[in-house]
Amino acid sequence: MKNEILPSAVCRLPSTARFMHRALAEAQAAVEENEVPVGAVIVHQGRVIAEAHNQREQLRDPTAHAEIIAITQAAECLGSWRLENCTLYVTLEPCPMCAGAILQARIPVVVYGAADPKTGAVRSLFRLLEDERLNHTCEVVPGVLAEPCGAILTEFFKTQRRLGKK
Ligand code: ZN
Repeated sequence: MKNEILPSAVCRLPSTARFMHRALAEAQAAVEENEVPVGAVIVHQGRVIAEAHNQREQLRDPTAHAEIIAITQAAECLGSWRLENCTLYVTLEPCPMCAGAILQARIPVVVYGAADPKTGAVRSLFRLLEDERLNHTCEVVPGVLAEPCGAILTEFFKTQRRLGKK
């Protein structure tokens, strides 16, 4: 029952849209750096403790997804690898690597924007965050500001194709 009630309650909070807008601002920063625009924000007791965007190209690091960078920042901020009482907001459905990191960090609530039918590991291809066989599960709130979160990606790839990249 808890799983059904909490996401919609979280969804109605005005702060949910506000934090997703901050994640979108991070995605916008990624566009300016020619990175695939995905942004993430981690909130601890109402306070933003991490804000990051994808930096795979700049760091030449396949693990430099927005969520991973944000998780590292948040752990540093809290002085603990356990990100209890934290909510992660991310503009795109996390991939298997990021879902794994979310579980390792014990993040209790994950809010995401656009679905990722190609690599999404939260709802699209797998449901890693809600798999009871694992030692930790998360509350998942999908589809918050899904349209602008998806549009920024579509626009980015359209421009890339126009420029003859990728
Ligand atoms: Zn990822």
